[in-house]
Order: sequence, then structure tokens, then C-alpha cells
Amino acid sequence: MSGKNSRIVFDGHCDTPSRIGAGSFQLEKRNGSGHIDIPRMREGGVSAQFFACCVDPDLPPGVWEETARHCLDSTVRAIEPLEGIKLALSGSEIKKALERELISIMLSVEGGHVITSPASLEYFYGLGMRSLAVTWKNSNRLADSSEGSRRWGGISPFGGEMVSEMNRLGVLIDCSHASRESFFDILEHSSDPVILSHSCAAGICDIPRNADDSQMKALAESGGVICINFFPAFLDQKANREIMKIWKPYREKKSALARRYGNDPERAGAELLPDAMRRLEKIPMPGVSSVADHIVYAVEIAGIDHVGLGSDFDGIPVTPSGLEDISRVPALERELAGRGFSQRDRDRIMGENLLRVVELVCG
Ligand SMILES: [Zn+2]
Repeated sequence: MSGKNSRIVFDGHCDTPSRIGAGSFQLEKRNGSGHIDIPRMREGGVSAQFFACCVDPDLPPGVWEETARHCLDSTVRAIEPLEGIKLALSGSEIKKALERELISIMLSVEGGHVITSPASLEYFYGLGMRSLAVTWKNSNRLADSSEGSRRWGGISPFGGEMVSEMNRLGVLIDCSHASRESFFDILEHSSDPVILSHSCAAGICDIPRNADDSQMKALAESGGVICINFFPAFLDQKANREIMKIWKPYREKKSALARRYGNDPERAGAELLPDAMRRLEKIPMPGVSSVADHIVYAVEIAGIDHVGLGSDFDGIPVTPSGLEDISRVPALERELAGRGFSQRDRDRIMGENLLRVVELVCG
């Protein structure tokens, strides 16, 4: 292998597809806003990236499936004509792309609420989906979310059936957002390792959205990977309190307003977001070292082969200072080097671990 981009740096989660087709965003251009585009991925040395299609559950349930289809489809169509970037359907395709110094994009869907049957799972697989987050912030017919109602006390019988189907098809199961009980149910049902594509350590920032030590240990035993989220509200308890004082009421108001507008979360967000952002931007954010703290912690609990990166870029309203977008990823690696991680260990954290699981599950 040759060239600096032949190294695997693999980010487990971003919400960039929501920007594709919206406003003036162009994946191939360097954009003045947002966190990810091709020039900035190149600058950050990022060679593979999961692009998540997240369907807002505040949309009418009748359009969830169609919205996910549209998102996957438009993302594929945006990538296809571009130079230097390629849709990957397996780990071996990522490896081939790496040799040609191409950036690989893998598609995921965030939120099992869009899955209505084994046939719909297979349909999304056919559209290129290679990972599914069993829940988003809402509990659904498959499982309970860490932020949603306790509907099943874990996963439902249908959720168990879908876990088996994902194992059969070769869809990587993502337990980020799922409740603790759902997580353990999924581990028990799944014959493949699972991932937490964008979660942090509850041992440092104790919130239900983060993974506790017992989850990390079980994840490692299954062969999976926890990809550390960059969202300051998940990194640090104090930042969490200050951000959530603004972000939680924003999300609640947005849902209520979306209902008033006939289930239109986009219109509600456009109206309420600017004020929330103005207030969020005044909060001092934790730095790159906070992300490194979570990586160090996860390595201690889960082991060096079970930790990766899950930026959540383009899905988080604020970022750590010094890690403002994907081009700044080398700053995180420098921090890890400063913490004593060898080149070999950094290679695993930066991408090899996630690639190993993708190869095992998706081929
Ligand atoms: Zn998420």
C-alpha cells in the first residue's frame, strides 16, 4: 500500500445525509458550515465513514419508510458521480477502495421505527443499508430507547426476529441510543458482534445515553466496538447540564411545534434552532482532551481492540473546541499519542477495530 490515505481512519457515525439535497450543501466542496465534506475528510485523513439516514419520528408514521428510502437513495446518487469517493457495501470493498486511495462511505439507518417487517429490512439492505441503529431517541416496535418510554423492558419479540434477520443478511447492529436492557437483550440474541456507533463512557459522564462498564465489557466479549461520540453533552457532566438546559427544551418545543404544523419537524426546527444555537454557542466547550479521556477509559474497560471513533458530526449542535469538524481528527490522534498510545494502538482505535467488525458482519 502507498500514500497517506491508504491508512484506515473510520468514523462510525455522522448525520451528513440530512444535509445532502438541502440548501447549498455540496459534498464535494469545502462548505463554510457543518462538519463533513470530501475536502475536509481528506484533510483529516479520514478514509471511511458511516453516513446515517435518520428519520425524525415527529414525521407522520406513514412517511417514515419513504423518508428513509429517499435519504438512502439521494445519498447514493450524490456519491456516485464524485471522484475519489465510493459507496462501500462490505469491509472488503473498503479495503479495495483504500488501496486506490478512495474514501469509502457506508450507509446506515438510525432508528428501527422505519422497519415494519422482515421484507422492509431486506428492502433497505437492497438500497445499500449495512448498519441499523435499533432505536433512535424514541422507543419503537423493536426495542426501548435509553431516552424513550419503557415499552418492552428491552427488545420486543419482533425486535428479536429483526436481530436474527440482520444476522442473516449481514447488517451490522448498532446499539447506540438503545436502553441498557435493550442492549443486553440484543447481545443475547445476536450471533454477530454489535457496535455502539456513537456513545461515550457513563463511567465519566453518567447519563443513560452513555455505556456503563458492564455494557463495555459485554460488548468487548462479543467482539464489538464502542465508537466514542464527540458531543460535548455526552463527554462531560458539567457541559451536559449546561447544554441540556437549552437542548432538551429545544427538542421538546420542536416536537410540540411540529405537531402544530401537521407533523412538520423541519419547519419547526427552522423556526426554533437559531435561538437555541445562539445560546449554545455562548457555553465554553470541553476540548479534544475530553474525547481522549473517554477513549482512554473505554480502552481500560473494553480493551484496545474494542474502541473506535463515532463523531456524530452533522448531528450535534456543538463540538469540542479543537475538534470543530472532520478535518481536525489529527488533533485527536496527536492527543492520543501524547497519552502514550503507540502507532499500532492508534491504528486500531482510529479505524482498524471498526473495519474488523464490518468485515466480520458485512463481508
Ligand atoms: Zn444518534
